[in-house]
Amino acid sequence: MRKKIDHSYTDEIVCPYCGYKSSESYEYEWDDGELECNECGKEFLYCREIEVTYTTTKKDCVSNGEEHDFVFDHEYDYVQKYGKNKDTDKWEDTPLPPEEHEHVIVHKCSKCDSTENERTPLKKEEEV
Ligand SMILES: [Zn+2]
Ligand SMILES: [Zn+2]
Repeated sequence: MRKKIDHSYTDEIVCPYCGYKSSESYEYEWDDGELECNECGKEFLYCREIEVTYTTTKKDCVSNGEEHDFVFDHEYDYVQKYGKNKDTDKWEDTPLPPEEHEHVIVHKCSKCDSTENERTPLKKEEEV
């Protein structure tokens, strides 16, 4: 019974005839070529496959000498859970009074991934 030789997508060059595995495949300068097996002496062809991928990320518009094109993305009410105590100058986990809550409108640049927050005081219900 003939042994099945794994010689495709291997990490080293494997002789397709006898299965001899070269330990210095990386030393071959060319990405494809002809080889003579060190073990069985038969000639065969090899092809080196290298998978190269690229990832790109947009730079800030300003880097490209352009102006941001901010468009509305989403908005939310920012109700702080803690704030600075004006008397002790310490941050405390006591909620800020409602008049210091903010309504935040987030604008996102349509050309890059920059965001800009527009903060306005959150008005109380009865003032609207
Ligand atoms: Zn061989
Ligand atoms: Zn931009």
